[in-house]
Amino acid sequence: MNTYRIAAVPGDGIGVEVIAAGVEVLEALARRSGSFALDFKHFDWNSDNFVKHGHYIPDGGLEELKTFDSIFFGAVGALNVPDHVSLWGLRLPICQGFDQYANVRPARVLPGVKSPLHNGQDIDWVVIRENSEGEYSGNGGRVHRGLPEEVATEVSVFTRVGVERIHRFAFELARTRPRKQLTLVTKSNAQRHGMVLWDEVFHEVAKDFPDVRIDKELVDAVTTRMVLKPGTLDVIVATNLHADILSDLAAALSGSLGIAPTANLNPGKQFPSMFEPIHGSAFDITGKGVANPIATFWTAAMMLEHLGEVQAARQLMSAIEAVTEAGVHTPDLGGTATTRQVTDAVLDLLNR
Ligand code: NAD
Ligand code: MN
Repeated sequence: MNTYRIAAVPGDGIGVEVIAAGVEVLEALARRSGSFALDFKHFDWNSDNFVKHGHYIPDGGLEELKTFDSIFFGAVGALNVPDHVSLWGLRLPICQGFDQYANVRPARVLPGVKSPLHNGQDIDWVVIRENSEGEYSGNGGRVHRGLPEEVATEVSVFTRVGVERIHRFAFELARTRPRKQLTLVTKSNAQRHGMVLWDEVFHEVAKDFPDVRIDKELVDAVTTRMVLKPGTLDVIVATNLHADILSDLAAALSGSLGIAPTANLNPGKQFPSMFEPIHGSAFDITGKGVANPIATFWTAAMMLEHLGEVQAARQLMSAIEAVTEAGVHTPDLGGTATTRQVTDAVLDLLNR
């Protein structure tokens, strides 16, 4: 029997609530399968502990995290810690330290869920976000702080290696999908260095994938295409910043941020990959018991698939879809169900 060691990092806010629900569901799946087991270790790396001890990740923490098969992450962000401190204190050291350069964000309208678009059922996308460099490389600085002549720079960094590997990953993924279509999204009219490198490398890599249909779109234009002609898109590859924004839009168009999952992959598997809902810690609903756990369940299905437990991943996706179809919806989807009720509905199906 395979036993997978999973590091659970719930983090802050509703991250704690949805990861608890996700762990319950994953444990039920493992019990049901009889062929694999999950060994969870919980890490209390969060903003409360940061305020008390001055760090999110303790000494040796990343080294320990490296020994796990996967990381199951909630959210980080708290009202009493600046967002750039929490993000760079917890999530980015894991993404960057473990070279999780491919961020994969599927979007589709689950059964029973209403899209704000009249043609939302045409949404079936995977947004692939470059996750290690670009606009979020952390390259920049501030001088003359507080003076009228203060200067701040935020320099995007694009390397040929970084650009080529994300394009290759995107083509490989597009190839596995029925429509085999890949849309390159950049802003290479206004940004004439890094974005032009993105375009050039894309077309070089495309030669190795003659079976994948390609097209390209500027990032502003693609937002209109997502809204007006969702059925014309399949897989989208874009930079760290652009895909961050496009995937929140994709989540909203699919019904709610509360259902959108993501995987931060280290495709070569030298390091564990990290699986998390797209949403943040959601201060406005923290502690109310109404956070939608579906994003985390879908995330858990992506984790199982990555671990090679494809059948369990399918079982979980079917249970999720049966529950959304039956109308067991939290308030973000227009319903009145609680996190507990949605979780129980999924557990009920898995325990049958
Ligand atoms: P958010 O995702 O926390 O919330 C945006 C809105 O969506 C809120 O109205 C919230 O109630 C709703 N929402 C989000 N997830 C939901 C769910 N599962 N069920 C129901 N409703 C849900 O984004 P924000 O308000 O911009 O950020 C809040 C904090 O979270 C900030 O500190 C931010 O830095 C952090 N954040 C962290 C991550 C991450 O850890 N990956 C991602 C985004 C934001
Ligand atoms: Mn985001």
